[in-house]
Amino acid sequence: MTIRTEVCVVGGGPGGRALALALVRLGRRVVLLEQRAGGGRAFRGESVSPDGVRLLAGLDVLERVRGHTHEVHRLEIADGGSRVLDVRFESFPYAYRLPVELAQPVLLSALTRAADERGGCTVLEPASAIGLLVDAGAVRGVRAKTADGTEEIRADVTVGADGRYSSVRRLAGLDHSAERTPLERDVIWLKLPFPAAWDRRAYRVRISAGRHGLFLPSTDGTLRVGLNIPKGGLRELRSGDIGQLHARLAELAPELEREAAEAILGWSDTHLLDIFTTDVRRWSAPGVVLIGDAAHTLSPILGQGVNHALADAVALAPLLAGALEAPRSGRQAALGAAVAAFQQDREPAVRRSRGLQLRQERMFSLAAAPAAALRRTVYRVLNASPALQRRVLAPAYFPGQRPGPAATPARTEQRT
Ligand SMILES: Cc1cc2nc3c(=O)[nH]c(=O)nc-3n(C[C@H](O)[C@H](O)[C@H](O)COP(=O)(O)OP(=O)(O)OC[C@H]3O[C@@H](n4cnc5c(N)ncnc54)[C@H](O)[C@@H]3O)c2cc1C
Repeated sequence: MTIRTEVCVVGGGPGGRALALALVRLGRRVVLLEQRAGGGRAFRGESVSPDGVRLLAGLDVLERVRGHTHEVHRLEIADGGSRVLDVRFESFPYAYRLPVELAQPVLLSALTRAADERGGCTVLEPASAIGLLVDAGAVRGVRAKTADGTEEIRADVTVGADGRYSSVRRLAGLDHSAERTPLERDVIWLKLPFPAAWDRRAYRVRISAGRHGLFLPSTDGTLRVGLNIPKGGLRELRSGDIGQLHARLAELAPELEREAAEAILGWSDTHLLDIFTTDVRRWSAPGVVLIGDAAHTLSPILGQGVNHALADAVALAPLLAGALEAPRSGRQAALGAAVAAFQQDREPAVRRSRGLQLRQERMFSLAAAPAAALRRTVYRVLNASPALQRRVLAPAYFPGQRPGPAATPARTEQRT
């Protein structure tokens, strides 16, 4: 069977679904393919930065997820057992200044419902893009495997929103321009009961020499823990018993040792995230463009992946919608100009986030005593100056906002 549409979006993550919504709000027709049917996204993209919150508000989706978000007011870093940085997001002079925790299935279903109510978006799920349709040197859609067999989706433009291992990127020949940089560590994610004595409105980072862990409040009331391990070190860690993981956790958070022993009984209670960044030089080829993780995979520091996927969607939609208005004879040229403008617009912000993340990664991995002492000094200097904190965090947290003279009320609600 052949389906015809204006935009074929491959991938139903935050980027793909936000793009579909932004496009139907502009009156365009979209077919979205998602290879997985329902759920299965535990441990993924729960932290949404203040800029992501602002973008969701702009799409009228924030209202829909209200009641499912958990606001975070502080970021606390402890190094070598003492607190060296305590960032108070609330003191920042932005309309959207608090990051929130938001489970990805809730976000995805809110985006889908909003697009569905507008009309104009067909979601094929499960449906996997397995090939590109190419005509006269330009991509004209995809071939997809669905429950009913193989279908063709013919489109003026195809969007690869299919994540960090993007098949669209590979099939379109854009992998050649992609540079994948493995970072020095991977992360093991796990969930624990939330400690009664801890502030539920704080992100915590604990550092000890070259090791660190992230401790984040989750919307399900648990504590989401990300423990760093050396790149490829999982096999070695797994060759021992799970007690090794408990011990590693206890080095950073001794108060969690008992909870970990009770809650994490085996490796199946953990989830590994292979950490790398991908810098794709060309985000588009004739008839096809990449967004989100497919165009730029980031590390988990400061919860940037979801934010950039949303920002890509919001930036790309009006450019595509404008180009689709062009007469058929000039449409491919107009779409080519639109996707080039999109990359030009978005790439600097992605680069700034990646730079900030890589600097943080390097700071976290300093193991030698003098270097660790210097790190503590840097955090203490930062701690003493809210203005400096703002300057450091602005590229990642507040890129689309101008500081005002006084703090305005936060725009999301605290879930208790
Ligand atoms: C363990 C973990 C924890 C994370 N935590 C955070 C966090 O706290 N905050 C944050 O901002 N980011 C986090 N991230 C990163 C974040 O999840 C991603 O950056 C974000 O989801 C990117 O959105 P996306 O839409 O570009 O891609 P994805 O969310 O990866 O979505 C891509 C979608 O495409 C589908 N797909 C792939 N191939 C095909 C195909 N051929 N046909 C059809 N569909 C296809 C996939 O099934 C998937 O649903 C985390 C990631 C992981 C793995």
